[in-house]
Amino acid sequence: DDATPLLSVKGLEAWYGESHVLHGIDFDVRFGEVVTLLGRNGAGKTTTLKAIMGVLPKRTGSVQFQGKELMHAPARFIAREGIAWCPEERGIFSSLSVEENLMLPPQVKPGGMSLDRIFELFPNLKERLSSQGTKLSGGEQQMLAIARILRTGAKMLLLDEPTEGLAPVIIQQIGHTIARLKQEGFTIILVEQNFRFASTVADRHYVVEQGKVIDMIPNDQLEANIDKLHAYLGV
Ligand code: ATP
Repeated sequence: DDATPLLSVKGLEAWYGESHVLHGIDFDVRFGEVVTLLGRNGAGKTTTLKAIMGVLPKRTGSVQFQGKELMHAPARFIAREGIAWCPEERGIFSSLSVEENLMLPPQVKPGGMSLDRIFELFPNLKERLSSQGTKLSGGEQQMLAIARILRTGAKMLLLDEPTEGLAPVIIQQIGHTIARLKQEGFTIILVEQNFRFASTVADRHYVVEQGKVIDMIPNDQLEANIDKLHAYLGV
């Protein structure tokens, strides 16, 4: 049913060693939505994605995906449920070719994207098939990173600052890709600093500050809340 969130995060807390960085993150994502986590550097956005994926040793609270509690599940189980994470540092193998990078991800769910579909979404990658990861531009690396997680068949994608450091024209391409994935029924959490970009692709925005979600702004109310948002983000 449409009203039930696909992903529901409640009271999520997380630590790096002794350092307590998430203090009760609450948000939910409905099937087919694109939501962003906005917030200043160090607010806890990346840590929230890591905590969802189960790659932090210490976390508490609740993360439910399709009604199933994932808090005590190991990371490999969470990935197998069909949630894929594209980290800020992209996670491609720079010494391997584009083709090898695309062949490595395991298919965790039926419907992992075929190479033909990948090349339709990212025509550049087809031309760069035999190029090593290190030879790719920043934009091509980001596209490869997204392509890799699409190979897995996951339908929930966590994208950490996919536009960081990229030229405006490439950012626009990534925006088109996200819009297309949404049309195809993917559900996306996007961590972003660039809320101008975020406003072109997202349905709703969650504002993260000091390890908590402090506000939620529907995209169609972003302009009306622009002063508040500037204050949150310190821009
Ligand atoms: P950014 O855009 O800078 O990544 P963010 O909102 O994603 O910002 P996080 O990376 O989640 O923020 O960081 C939250 C807090 O946790 C920060 O205070 C950061 O210094 C701290 N932190 C992040 N990674 C580690 C780590 N590996 N060990 C210790 N502390 C960390």
